[in-house]
Amino acid sequence: MGFVSTRDASHVTDAAGAVLRGLAPDGGLFVPQEIPAFTAEEIAAMAGEPYNAIAARVLERFLPGFDHGELAGFAEAAYSGFDDPAVTPLHALGGGLWTLELFHGPTCAFKDLALQMLPYLLAASVKKCGEDHTVAILVATSGDTGKAALAGFSDVPGTKIGVFYPDGGVSDIQRAQMVTQEGANVQVLGVRGNFDDAQTGVKQIFSDGALSERLRRRGIVLSSANSINWGRLAPQIAYYYAAYAQLLTAGAVRMGERIDFTVPTGNFGDILAGYYAKRSGLPVERLICASNANNVLTDFLRTGVYDKNRPFLLTMSPSMDILVSSNLERLLYLVGGSDAQTAAWMEQLRAAGRYDVGAALRDRIAAEGFAAYCADEAQTAQTIRETWAERGYLADPHTAVGLCAAAQHRRRTGDDRPCVVLSTASPFKFAGSMLSSLGQPAAGDGFAALRALSAFSGQDVPAPLAGLEDKPERFCGVVAPAAMSESMEKWLVE
Ligand SMILES: *Cc1c(COP(=O)(O)O)cnc(C)c1O
Repeated sequence: MGFVSTRDASHVTDAAGAVLRGLAPDGGLFVPQEIPAFTAEEIAAMAGEPYNAIAARVLERFLPGFDHGELAGFAEAAYSGFDDPAVTPLHALGGGLWTLELFHGPTCAFKDLALQMLPYLLAASVKKCGEDHTVAILVATSGDTGKAALAGFSDVPGTKIGVFYPDGGVSDIQRAQMVTQEGANVQVLGVRGNFDDAQTGVKQIFSDGALSERLRRRGIVLSSANSINWGRLAPQIAYYYAAYAQLLTAGAVRMGERIDFTVPTGNFGDILAGYYAKRSGLPVERLICASNANNVLTDFLRTGVYDKNRPFLLTMSPSMDILVSSNLERLLYLVGGSDAQTAAWMEQLRAAGRYDVGAALRDRIAAEGFAAYCADEAQTAQTIRETWAERGYLADPHTAVGLCAAAQHRRRTGDDRPCVVLSTASPFKFAGSMLSSLGQPAAGDGFAALRALSAFSGQDVPAPLAGLEDKPERFCGVVAPAAMSESMEKWLVE
């Protein structure tokens, strides 16, 4: 099984090539030519297995050319630092509703599941492609991805990681998380500008042919860790299987019984991983796409028209403040079936910010199980309050958007089948928004908010956040956008 580009299926590469390149040469995204299939017996056998074993089983099917033992070792290395033995534990809320807590990793958010694994996949892909250079990852971040990438790549042999963040454009906690990062192969720089300036600067570095050539002569190849890389998507498929296995173990479902997943969505990566789980045999009925007030995906899934020409809203679930959901391209190719048509829609998106897939494809996507709901700021805050008052559970704002969507779906359809809501961040990561949603007074800076939320809820601040205030700052540099390339090259070759 090879991997093809969503925009030109005659570009074929293997799994290692797809991971190493990230993006296809034509700008498309790599997808597997065939979707593997798990039998009911294989899924039933996952019940009671440790997370790492399930992850290795799922990954070996979605990354042909990587063997089971190798992947089991990577999973062990990637997930050993999680603070829960189940890695992604289920929390029962009652009434056939569970949260799947994806925030037990080093940065307290779900991107750890993919970014703790990707460095091992990348380093192995370099070797499988017969090369021996160092992979240097460059990331522009609005906060969370940068820290998750730093934590994942820190001290992984054969890799280096450089992160740019907008100076003054990230929260106190996010900045502290990044500038205190340990590891001999890491670099963090502030950029005098906003996130777009940082991202534009990184894109310029990637497209600078002369710079690439100078680095290559020094044995360094640049790569990106962004969410369109197949090496980030594949590890996310595993936790859908792990969730079902936990429900089987708990006797909450019988093998084969179909369940719903509700997924707080931004770039469409997480929910697409759920679609791959469904297509590969996991008994899933609905994939409920939950958006915040930036509801471009809700509109798309309901109307077939994707239109990013709308105001960009800042919400308390910032990781879902996205108007271009890159991974949707994979769904259009998978369900629509045409590379040329996918390429045409992506060109319309680039040129006009809009495309219309038509009612027929919209209906086929719905028939594949997709439903869509959104929650505005007031609904999100209300869900946080009610979930705490009625179920004693602190749901972060992203998770609350998911819970609100799940409730809307149940109300509209009357369906009460088991539903797992993906919980994508620790509430302590968004302590200020949690406090205001819970009707508590504002707490000063981010660290004071952590303490206040802990006092309010009686829950401990997670260790990775609790220790931050006292950690020494290692990276104080701030550069102008025009100096990003030079500073990064100097660091890479030193
Ligand atoms: C990135 C992120 C999301 C959205 O995930 P996508 O894969 O982009 O859909 C949701 N919640 C949190 C906390 C995130 O960091």
